[in-house]
Amino acid sequence: MSGNDSFDFDLITLGAGSGGVAASRRAATLGARVAIVEGSRVGGTCVIRGCVPKKLMMYAAQLGDAINEARGYGWAVEAARFDMAPWAAQKAAETRRLEGVYRQNLAGSGVKVIDGWGRLDGPNTVVVGEQRLTARHVLIATGARPVRDSIEGIGDCATSDEVLDLEALPDEVAVIGAGYIGVEFASILARLGAKVHLFYRDRQPLRGFDEDLRTRAAQSLEAAGVVLHAGQAPQRVQRQDSGFELHMAGGLTHRFPFVLNATGRRPHTEGLGLETVGLTVDKRGAVPVNERFETPAAGIHAIGDVTNRLNLTPAAIAEGRAWAESLFGPTPRTLDLGRVATAVFTLPPLGTIGPTEAQALKDGHALKVFEADFRPMKQTFIGGAERSYMKLLVDADTDRVLAVHMLGADAPEIVQSLAVALTCGATKAQFDRTLAVHPTSAEEFVLMREPTRVLPAAARSGAA
Ligand code: NDP
Repeated sequence: MSGNDSFDFDLITLGAGSGGVAASRRAATLGARVAIVEGSRVGGTCVIRGCVPKKLMMYAAQLGDAINEARGYGWAVEAARFDMAPWAAQKAAETRRLEGVYRQNLAGSGVKVIDGWGRLDGPNTVVVGEQRLTARHVLIATGARPVRDSIEGIGDCATSDEVLDLEALPDEVAVIGAGYIGVEFASILARLGAKVHLFYRDRQPLRGFDEDLRTRAAQSLEAAGVVLHAGQAPQRVQRQDSGFELHMAGGLTHRFPFVLNATGRRPHTEGLGLETVGLTVDKRGAVPVNERFETPAAGIHAIGDVTNRLNLTPAAIAEGRAWAESLFGPTPRTLDLGRVATAVFTLPPLGTIGPTEAQALKDGHALKVFEADFRPMKQTFIGGAERSYMKLLVDADTDRVLAVHMLGADAPEIVQSLAVALTCGATKAQFDRTLAVHPTSAEEFVLMREPTRVLPAAARSGAA
C-alpha cells in the first residue's frame, strides 16, 4: 500500500479495543502507516472491562463449586470463604499485563498509539488534545457503552464496568435485565455468595436464544439460588441513603443495597465529531455502514459494536481484519457472519451455534430434533443435581446439521469445536460416522440415534 505523503497517516483508528487493534495491526502489516487513538485503556471492553475480567470472575465462582465437589471426591476441605479483595488485585494486575501485551503488539506491528480522546474535525482530520492529525482513511472502532437511561433512575446503578471493579461482594444484589450480562453476573455473583434477584420483562431469561436453553438456563439460575422475577422489570429506580428502591407496576417496591443495570449497551459515538463529516447515527444510535464497512462519509469507515450488528468480540476482530485486508491488501474479501457460535458464561455455561428451533421452522426447514438431557458422570458420583442438555437441529430434507445448542459443563469449548463441522456443512450422517471420545459429555453429540421430535416447517405448514 503506498502512502499519500500529504497525509500524516494512511489510517487513523479511533478506539483500541479488539476490533480497532485487529484492524490497525493488519493494516500496518500490509504496509500502511497507522495510528490508533485511545482515550481510556488499550484493550477496550473485552480485555479491560468485559469478556476477560468477567471470565476471571467466573473462574472464581467455579472454584467455589469445585471446593464443594472436592468433598464428594474424598478431599477433606475446611470451610471456604470467598474474599473479593485479593481477586480484585489479581484481576487488576492481569488486565495491566494484558494491556502491556496489546501495546507491545501494536508497537511490534508498527502502529503508533496516541493516548487521548480523538474526534473528527472535518474530512481526513482527527484532533486529539492539541494534536491535529490527518489520514487518508479513518476507522471508527469505538465500541459500545452500557445504556444508562433505559429506566427512570437506573443511571445511578452499577453497570458491568463497576461490578468488575468491586473490591467487596455485596450481600444482596438486584440484577435488572436478563441478556448475556444479566444472567452471567446473576449466576456468578450467586455462586460467590451474594443473594441475587433477577428482574426481566419476558417470561424467560435470554430472549433470542433457543427456548429449551432458556428454560434450562432459568432452572439452573434457580438451582444456584437466584430469585427469578419473570415478567417483572421496575418502572423506576430510586437511589436512597444506602441502596436503591425498585418501583414495580402496581405500586410494589423492593429495596436492595446494590443494583446492577444490565439493560443493554449502546454504540459509543458521543464526542466523536461525526457532524463535522456530515455523518448521522441511525435510530439505534449506530454508525451506519455498508457491507464494505464504509459509512456515507468519504474516507470514514466503522467496525464492531459501534455499528451495532453482531456485538461480539470475535465478530469485531474478523470485521477489522477483513476490512484492513480489503483496503490495504491485494484482494478485497467479504465476511460471512451468518452462523456464529456464541457462549453465555453462566455456571453451568451455555454454547450455541445456528438458529433456534423456532427460527429454523420459520425459515422453512422441516426438522429432526435430537436431544440428550443427563447428569454428567462427575455429578452422579457425588449426588449432584447439575445436568447437561444437548440439542441438534437437523434439516429433515437434506440431513444437514443446522444448529447445536448446549447448556452444561464445557458447553462453550464443545460448541467451538462443533462450529467447525457446521461451517463445513456437516450432515447428521457424518456426525453418526464420527467415533466417540469416551468417557466425555461431548460424545453425546455423535451418539444421538433417534430424533425426539420430527417437525414440519412452519412456513410450509402455514403455522406461525
Ligand atoms: P442484551 O441486549 O443481551 O440484554 C439486555 C437485557 O436488558 C434484556 O434482558 C432486555 O430485555 C433488558 N432490557 C432492555 N431494556 C429494558 C428496559 N427498558 N426495561 C427492562 N429491561 C430492559 O444486553 P447485555 O447488556 O446483556 O449485553 C450487551 C451485548 O454485549 C450483547 O449484545 C452481547 O452480544 C455482548 N456480550 C456478550 C457476551 C458473551 O459473548 N458471553 C457477554 C456479555 C455481553 P428484553 O429481552 O425484554 O428486551
